[in-house]
Amino acid sequence: MTTDRELRERAGKVIPGGMYGHLNAAIFAPGYPQFFERARGCRQWDVDGREYLDFMCSWGPVVLGHRHPRVEEAAARQAAKGDCLNGPGPVMVELAELLVDTVPSADWVMFSKNGTDATTQALMVARAATGRTKVLMAHGAYHGADPWCTPSLAGTTPNERADLAEFAYNSLTGLEEAAAALDGEVAAIIVTPFKHDSFEDQELAEPEFARGARRLADRIGSALVIDDVRAGFRVDLRGSWEQYGVRPDLTAWSKAMANGYPIAAVTGTDALRGAAQTLYSTGSFWFSGVAMAAAKATIETLRDTDAITAMERAGARLRAGLYAQAESHGFTVNQTGPVTIPWLSFDGDADLSVAMHWTTECLRNGVYLHPWHNWFLSAAHTAEDIALALDGTDSAFSATKRHFS
Ligand code: PMP
Repeated sequence: MTTDRELRERAGKVIPGGMYGHLNAAIFAPGYPQFFERARGCRQWDVDGREYLDFMCSWGPVVLGHRHPRVEEAAARQAAKGDCLNGPGPVMVELAELLVDTVPSADWVMFSKNGTDATTQALMVARAATGRTKVLMAHGAYHGADPWCTPSLAGTTPNERADLAEFAYNSLTGLEEAAAALDGEVAAIIVTPFKHDSFEDQELAEPEFARGARRLADRIGSALVIDDVRAGFRVDLRGSWEQYGVRPDLTAWSKAMANGYPIAAVTGTDALRGAAQTLYSTGSFWFSGVAMAAAKATIETLRDTDAITAMERAGARLRAGLYAQAESHGFTVNQTGPVTIPWLSFDGDADLSVAMHWTTECLRNGVYLHPWHNWFLSAAHTAEDIALALDGTDSAFSATKRHFS
């Protein structure tokens, strides 16, 4: 019996369902390991010693590569002094200053632990500022796992969702209509910088949609909240809609902020500082220094090196290689989203059975991709790593062709 199998059996007895949430390998594709032993750079090893070229980067947090020396050193230095103390260390102020200097829409920062903390806290600030209750979100968008936003309604009450109204991503008319229907009650419009819903092709934001959302929020006096939890630090260090000239009132950050250490943040504008100050929003571990030191080192590294460009180069190489391979094997594929947060789907593969087969074959060849969730590049992916990965994906296309013909 493999170690993974043995651990799954033991987990089944002491963890509900053996595993919960987005990391439950039972809902990926056959053959995916549940448990991992270690990681370095762009590689991970599972508990049975199998090595993978990692294209999930721990579902986003790892942006510079696993165990990046500058981040590990900063974290270790802070750990040696103490992590969880009676109050935060100087690092909290240093990190807040760094974010305010890096992100043009940020005049202040509040820290927490997970992306859900940050999206929830951003909405609290918006509600405190406007005295309104309603929130507009895109249909199918993921903003976290608290009762107000978790994709499964199990364990939630209708009341907890009562203040949400939906619009179709990239439809400015839809957004305006949804706002009009709520007649002055909208506290916030929350939107991801591109559409990255699971199980479907990703969609970049139409610049006119982004700019229109900004104009609408101004007109109706609502806060524009960008949920940059997934895209943040992989598209543009200044914020993912900066490229469209759109600055939000509030931004939720997490995932890649500290190269794998647990931290999240809300940044906001001066106009909302007073409202932010009124919240009682806190957590036992929100002020821990190690993750803050790691975040500071991560953001400084992203700022001082060509990490995002390196990621873009690697992502573009992967995308071009996969298109060429798919074509040579007679598949039509769609590759969507930014090259640093890519996904591939097969034309006509509504039930994702081809994607499931292909990713399983990739996994057997040591390339860890995902059949229904977007992937993530890191700055540690070199041209050689991408070439090696493409060897694996090519054999996977061959095997998939054989299987389905
Ligand atoms: N928003 C977005 C866009 C996300 O991708 C995620 C995590 N996948 C979250 C919020 C929630 O973050 P967390 O899982 O850290 O609570």
